[in-house]
Amino acid sequence: MPAQRPNFELTEAKPLQPGLHIVSTPIGNLRDITLRALDTLAAADRVFAEDTRTAAKLLSAFGLKNRLEAYHDHNGEAARPRVMAALAAGEGVALVSEAGTPLISDPGFKLVREAAAAGHPVFAVPGPSAVLAALTVAGLPTDRFLFAGFLPPKSVARRRALEELTAVRATLVLFESGPRLPDLLRDMAEVLGAREAAVARELTKLYESCVRGPLPDLAADPRFETIKGEIVVLAAPGEPSAEPAAADAALREALGRLSPGEAAGEVARALNLPRRDLYRRALAMKVEE
Ligand code: SAM
Repeated sequence: MPAQRPNFELTEAKPLQPGLHIVSTPIGNLRDITLRALDTLAAADRVFAEDTRTAAKLLSAFGLKNRLEAYHDHNGEAARPRVMAALAAGEGVALVSEAGTPLISDPGFKLVREAAAAGHPVFAVPGPSAVLAALTVAGLPTDRFLFAGFLPPKSVARRRALEELTAVRATLVLFESGPRLPDLLRDMAEVLGAREAAVARELTKLYESCVRGPLPDLAADPRFETIKGEIVVLAAPGEPSAEPAAADAALREALGRLSPGEAAGEVARALNLPRRDLYRRALAMKVEE
């Protein structure tokens, strides 16, 4: 078949409906902008942006010159009344975040809640998000997933957050920055056990990559020690692979040969269960003896 060229005259110069338009923008590759995002931004009476400089660059790449106003975590309280006044005046207001889908680990939730409560229409202009992009390439189950955003940066709080997630029977999707990735992977391997996982990096960009494997392998991967860029970490759902009775039996047998810590580690690897829970159980067994 001869090379095809899509019709680039597909954008529509229609007035925008009054209301709040939540506009997703690319997570790296500018060509991921949607035609509707361009229509909406071109016709918006006002565009509020998490980062006005990034938004200005994006708009100028498509020949748009909207005046931009800031809406971010630090000025939300002050900026919301201005957005609400514009909505009350019947304007079409667009909200964009620095990249991807607004509200997804980005500002906008309180604004949407307030706009909806005041009876203003809120429109989704969907498009790229690192959450769904990572899920599509990770090779992990997608029928159920739990997006937990950024976990706490300090290890104690992060491990506590991971412990709460051990029982979730869904693929886990987390955001992380390069410098914190090794510590996150080590904590995940320790708390979640030997689950299949993936590290998706710089999606849609020049150095896009996705490394897949069991959590302990990823935690030991030297490539991640100095990794830079934007990262999504995914882990397979916890398998109820062993009945508690089977885990207890394996632990009892292992405790005959090993310390509680070693026994917990051995059973965690064998049954794909979280080591921490097994360690607690092993200590309790020692006390019961
Ligand atoms: N709202 C955005 C979205 O829908 O994708 C996410 C915003 S959050 C503040 C930024 C985080 O998303 C980054 O630290 C990284 O974890 C992830 N992220 C954003 N772009 C990415 C990309 N191109 N590849 C991998 N992860 C990305």
